[in-house]
Formats: sequence, structure tokens, C-alpha cells
Amino acid sequence: MPAQRHKRVLLKLSGEALMGEDSYGINRSTIVRMTEEVSSVVRLGVQLAIVIGGGNIFRGVAPGAQGMDRATADYMGMMATVMNALALQDALKHQKVDARVQSALKIEQVVEPYIRPKALRYLEESKVVIFAAGTGNPFFTTDTAAALRGAEMGAEIVLKATKVDGIYSADPNKDPSATRYSRISFDEVIARRLEVMDATAFALCRDQKLPIRVFSINKHGALQRAIDGEDEGTLVHV
Ligand code: UDP
Repeated sequence: MPAQRHKRVLLKLSGEALMGEDSYGINRSTIVRMTEEVSSVVRLGVQLAIVIGGGNIFRGVAPGAQGMDRATADYMGMMATVMNALALQDALKHQKVDARVQSALKIEQVVEPYIRPKALRYLEESKVVIFAAGTGNPFFTTDTAAALRGAEMGAEIVLKATKVDGIYSADPNKDPSATRYSRISFDEVIARRLEVMDATAFALCRDQKLPIRVFSINKHGALQRAIDGEDEGTLVHV
């Protein structure tokens, strides 16, 4: 076992990670491929908690929500994360991975509510815990939920899976001279005004000294390399 392998991690999957090349919703082959990657790390004995986003189904500030009351739109966004959580749990079941969904909003007939000690017990029993409905509060994001649940679960690191393989000095889609950081400190991220997570999520990780690794969900084996503490994507360290 690699010396650097993390024992307990919080994986943040955005809704778009389930979308693949589609423009919305859940892409079957994408979710299957992703759950294969997840199941292979779970089999290594890593305790895995996942916060799932909802942007592939609904985003509170999206054009379709314009004119809507912001809090109402945000509750719709949180409900979207519950749908993704159920899809993810089901796809993991096909990989023979036992996963439990806990929701920050009460929807008792469908999923159990978030109960911290129960979530911790599931992790100790090697079950994957999927946190749905973000923080349960409007005006927040699932990135903030990832920082929050990561801290509550005592995760060693937040792994943020994105479409880009790390943090770049500039937008690599616009600036061909942009370079990827292998490691960068929280202070440097602020000084260079780089976008890693939203400000609330970033501040929470920084205060709790919870490192973040940004990596590409589309790169085969990247999740395992991130869990093994290898030079994958970008590590934001204290
Ligand atoms: N949301 C919220 N509170 C939370 C988490 C999420 O109100 O604690 C809402 C918000 O409207 C957001 C949507 O749910 O736009 C989907 O979450 P997010 O945008 O973080 O998903 P992702 O971009 O990761 O797919």
C-alpha cells in the first residue's frame, strides 16, 4: 500500500460529472465509468464519502430560474442533487458497492436524513456515504457542502473532481501559455485570485486546514492516484 494513501476522503462530484458529453441529465456510460473508478478505490479499503452536485439537472442561478425567488430555485437545485444521489447509489449497487444516501433535507420515504454519527459508522463499515441536498440551505453550493461534510467526517482531504485536470495559472481554454500548478498553498490561491471552489467552501477548508486536490474525473485512474497522494491534478495545501 502506498505510504501516502488516504484512509478517509471526501469526494466532491459535480452534477456535470454525470452528464458526460450530453448537455444535461445523466449519461449512462459516464456514470458507469465513474462508479467503476469509485468501486476500485473502495476495494482498496479507502473510506469514501461523496457530495454530489446537481448542476446537470438544475442550478439555482440558471437562466431557467431567472425571475424565480432565489431560495425557491435553490431548493429545486438541492432536490436535483437528491436525484443524482439516487442514480449514483443505484449505479454503485451494480458494481456491488454498498452505498447509503443521507439528505440534508428531509424526504423520509426516499432517503434517510443526515445524521453525523450514523454517517461515520457507515464509513467505518466500509460503506460509501453519499451526501445529498448540499448543506440543506439556500444561498450555498455543494462545494460548501463538501467542505462542511469533509470537516464533519474528519476526512483527510477534499477531492474535487472537475472537467479540468487541476488548477491553471490562467484559463487553459483561452490562454495556451497557461500552466498547471502541481501544488499551491491556500494563501497563494488567494493572492493569485485563482478559482478553486466558491469563497465559502474555500474559507472553510482553509480554516479547518483541510487540503483540497482538484483533478479530472475524465482521466482514467486519476481518482486512485489522487487517493494515493500521487502528483495528480493540483494539491491545495495549508
Ligand atoms: N444548492 C443550495 N444549497 C446547497 C447546495 C446546493 O441551494 O447547500 C442549490 C443551488 O441552487 C445550486 C444547486 O443546488 O445551484 C446545485 O448545486 P451545485 O451548483 O453546487 O452543483 P454542481 O455545480 O456541483 O453540479
